[in-house]
Amino acid sequence: MEFEKYIRDIPDFPEKGIVFKDITTLLINSEVFSKVIDKMAESYKKKKIDKVVGIESRGFIFGGMLSYILGAGFVPARKAGKLPHKTIRESYSLEYGESIIELHEDSIKKGDKILLVDDLLATGGTAEAVVKLITRLGGEISGIEFLIELDFLNGREKLDGKKIHSLIHY
Ligand code: AMP
Repeated sequence: MEFEKYIRDIPDFPEKGIVFKDITTLLINSEVFSKVIDKMAESYKKKKIDKVVGIESRGFIFGGMLSYILGAGFVPARKAGKLPHKTIRESYSLEYGESIIELHEDSIKKGDKILLVDDLLATGGTAEAVVKLITRLGGEISGIEFLIELDFLNGREKLDGKKIHSLIHY
């Protein structure tokens, strides 16, 4: 299936020069959305995954579905100040702007097998920060799934050595 047909480009959003990849046009199509989830889950169905970590906010959409399919718990990686209990945090730079991301310190146990998921890999700063947080808590990353990867930004270089899979490449 040509998933890219269902992605809408929004030029100059949220800032001039950024072409925002709008995935809402894919999500409203139930057949395409379920095929995306099946594809993301494919290589993990026979593996033991303890937790799926989804990155705020669009990573939650895929992460919740994947945790259901894989029989794993779901862990939200959230922007600063959103998680109510004790957190660990990392700061990082985005394709646009700077940010801080957090995990609850009790969300991952040493040795947990983790599938990390987000909608889009751009510069890799966000995913790299979450990889650091998972690693600090002793989690072992089994793989990272993205719906979209912007190849020209070389984000995967920041995730060196990890199993990375993206359904759409630009
Ligand atoms: P990065 O840390 O540069 O890899 O940025 C990835 C995060 O920013 C993801 O959570 C994306 O949802 C969001 N993002 C970055 N660039 C874009 C873009 N061009 N279109 C849509 N989302 C983006």
